[in-house]
Amino acid sequence: EEQHIIMDELGIRRALTRIAHEILEKNKGIDNCVLIGIRTRGIYLANRIAERIKEIEGTPVPVGELDITQYRDDRDNASGTTSVLEAVSSGEITIHNKRIILFDDVLFTGRTIRAAMDAIMDLGRPQLIQLAVLVDRGHRELPIRPDYVGKNVPTAKLEAIEVSLQEVDGGDKVTIFQQ
Ligand code: 5GP
Ligand code: MG
Repeated sequence: EEQHIIMDELGIRRALTRIAHEILEKNKGIDNCVLIGIRTRGIYLANRIAERIKEIEGTPVPVGELDITQYRDDRDNASGTTSVLEAVSSGEITIHNKRIILFDDVLFTGRTIRAAMDAIMDLGRPQLIQLAVLVDRGHRELPIRPDYVGKNVPTAKLEAIEVSLQEVDGGDKVTIFQQ
């Protein structure tokens, strides 16, 4: 089976540092922003970006997590980050009038992001929603585009991306392989 590394640890680190700066530039700082990580790996990406923003600006930014597969279930994920549903109901995070930045590892058809936007808008009316992904592999089936992209990887339908992150996989890399 053929497999190619398309981002290594340093490549991922540089991409996330760039995205942190792009977020600060586009939002003119980080006031009123809430980062929301989707499922497993989007949560770690959101946490890493929040750490970098704290280093750059000296300001903490709220991070929540969203599980699209069971978004009506309030269980906390293994990451220790607060579930958005719980955080909103406890008043720890507000959605209303906030600039919401969604994070996912890979963007494909866009259906996950559509579901995430539905889930968020059920909780309040954000000022806006932006999207950050580590990899955009193309093949969109909905009119959704990311605001921040680690790497654009035009894939064939039969190719897939594997994202490994230190927090869950013991190391950072992105590979492309034939399914
Ligand atoms: P979509 O909903 O846009 O079709 O797919 C995006 C969701 O499915 C993301 O949450 C992402 O984690 C997962 N996904 C889709 N394609 C891939 C892929 O090639 N590799 C990985 N690692 N995840 C994918
Ligand atoms: Mg996912």
